[in-house]
Amino acid sequence: MALKRVLVVGGGSAGWITAAYLDAVLNGKTAKAVDITVIESPDIGRIGVGEATVPSVRDTMASIGADERTFMKAADATFKQAIKFVNWLDGAGEHYYHPFDRRQKGRLDRSGLRWMTSDRSTPFAHTVSAQPWLADDGRSAKPKGAQDYQSPLSYAYHMDAEKTAGFLCDLAVGRGVKHVLDLVVDVEMAPHGDIAAVKTKSGERLEADLFIDCTGFRALLIEGALKAGYEDYSDYLMCDRAVAMRVPYDAHWPGARKAYTTATALSSGWCWDIGLASRRGVGYVYSSRFIDDDAAEAELRAFEGPHSDDIAARTLKFRTGRRIQPWTRNCVAIGLSSGFIEPLESTGLFLVELSAATLAEYFPFGGEMQPLADRFNAIIDQRYEEILDFVVLHYCITRRTDTAFWREVSKPNRIPDRLASWLETWKLKSPSHSDFHDSLQLFSHHTYEYVLYGMDHGRERIANIDPARLPATPVPRDVQGAVAQGRRVLPSHDDWLRAELGEAYAPPA
Ligand code: FAD
Repeated sequence: MALKRVLVVGGGSAGWITAAYLDAVLNGKTAKAVDITVIESPDIGRIGVGEATVPSVRDTMASIGADERTFMKAADATFKQAIKFVNWLDGAGEHYYHPFDRRQKGRLDRSGLRWMTSDRSTPFAHTVSAQPWLADDGRSAKPKGAQDYQSPLSYAYHMDAEKTAGFLCDLAVGRGVKHVLDLVVDVEMAPHGDIAAVKTKSGERLEADLFIDCTGFRALLIEGALKAGYEDYSDYLMCDRAVAMRVPYDAHWPGARKAYTTATALSSGWCWDIGLASRRGVGYVYSSRFIDDDAAEAELRAFEGPHSDDIAARTLKFRTGRRIQPWTRNCVAIGLSSGFIEPLESTGLFLVELSAATLAEYFPFGGEMQPLADRFNAIIDQRYEEILDFVVLHYCITRRTDTAFWREVSKPNRIPDRLASWLETWKLKSPSHSDFHDSLQLFSHHTYEYVLYGMDHGRERIANIDPARLPATPVPRDVQGAVAQGRRVLPSHDDWLRAELGEAYAPPA
């Protein structure tokens, strides 16, 4: 079979994850099936955000063949075992966790009902998962000495976006992936409508059988050349900007690196807080319909504190939605060129990983591509719809009415029909196994329950019960056991980082 030529245009996280993954899984150590080149512009930077992940990243890194500790050191990485949502319910300082771990209860899981018919003195997540307890303790997600990518509890990483792309670039190039630093200035079309080649500023003409568009929001090939079409989601998700800062620990040490992402609701959106090894990444995702850029930056600085006064901030504009045909003709869009849903559940890199893995599974080794493209597009389309619903859920069940933004996002016309229908159903029953039966699904009844009960949804179901008769919330034995075991084997997050990755990871003096 002839060697297939793949040209990845763009060298951000999407470009390098895709190139490193395809090379690792499609090429043997000696025999090559695909010849991969990545071209990236030295003049157009990477977006530089995208630093919180979900557990699938461990499989991706393992498939790429990266040694975990080497990767973590190169990427300034730390562990993530949950997202902590603060102020989403009524803005009075309350919080809930969405952890990765969940004690399985089989098909008929009564955890939600049990919690709802109790006095709710313990938050729901603490009754079904050890991780909220361990996150509150400041523990690592992984014991010392554990094998690469293994732990009794599920986990992901916080990782520096620039450094991760750089690490994967070095690894892939070391294995034979070609790297061209040049600007693509033109896309040459073949008479039958496929892409024939791209032309660069320095006069090169690069041909390929398959082009992967990883040019970020520019979408140079998939939209610029192929007009693949776009479905806009901004009626449902109103945030369209972010202002981001990198806060070094020598400017402000919060006392420990947290093994969870914090997402705090602010006046017109929310703020992420991601603790890397040597700095925090913070950013305010907001809607420009409700706050202007200067006011958003001022609100972020006020929230972060006076130590942020001299730290540079960067404003990013984004559009929420997805490319209708991410695989069109001989071009596959992966990363921001394929679409974007705000980063509340860290799904951007997940979609990159899924796209790379799906492309490897459906790789067009034969001549014909369309049936493979149709299936790929159906899989990615379903994931976008799934992520849209789940992210909207966080907004639409809020009780906040303190700003115009919060009053707007909870209006019925801001809820996709699918989600609205499920919310009606979940007034009658808890989310359960059979509500979600797609094997590629990222979010399940477990994740929906974390958000719904974290937001105190579903009170109607116990409206007829006298509150005085509700028993104290029980914490089942298996959860208590997992917490006790975690406390025995998991050191503090700072201890793990220092012991396993070296003195460079020691907390600042
Ligand atoms: P980019 O990083 O923009 O890379 C584009 C590449 O294309 C660059 O290398 C550039 O040089 C190249 N390029 C462009 N034009 C040309 C040209 N003409 N010629 C040659 N090269 C060209 N995801 C998560 O999973 N978790 C998060 O916490 C998260 N937070 C986010 C926060 C914000 C505010 C935003 C906007 C996104 C976030 N994401 C997050 C998404 C994540 O950042 C992206 O999915 C990821 O970084 C992939 O970006 P990319 O590689 O597609 O684009």
